Amino acid sequence: MLRRTHAVFAASAAIFLGLTPSQIIASAFFGIISDMDHTIGIRHRGFTHSLLFAFLAFLVVSALFPNLSLPVLAGILTHIFADMLNPEGVELFYPSRKNYRILKLRFNSRLGNGIIMAISLALIFLRLMGYAVNVKPLITLAYRIHDAALKLGLR
Ligand SMILES: [Zn+2]
Repeated sequence: MLRRTHAVFAASAAIFLGLTPSQIIASAFFGIISDMDHTIGIRHRGFTHSLLFAFLAFLVVSALFPNLSLPVLAGILTHIFADMLNPEGVELFYPSRKNYRILKLRFNSRLGNGIIMAISLALIFLRLMGYAVNVKPLITLAYRIHDAALKLGLR
């Protein structure tokens, strides 16, 4: 999908999760980092589009900046989902090179980007309607990882 679509989708997920304004902005940024694979010259829609990457990023960010743990998850997971609408799919279970996809819409297709924008609006609407998910266990986990990192002297 287009970069702006990824940013909007990630920010909407952050809004749905009830994150703070600065965390919402951070989510939009994390929503586009997966495509740095182009920049650093590794296989596109491989490692940076996998659950392993989401897990490792959560671990590292929790250790260093636990308040960014949910934004990093929101950004990367929405990115992976959106790219699963592409014909190429993503290597969801990297290091397995099998590609997973839901639809076959090109990254710049109006329909594909429109679907993601519609889901984004729906997420914001659901939040306004009072729907919420309990993210406390994830926040607790992030701060536990942070404490462990402090004890290990990683910071
Ligand atoms: Zn991508």
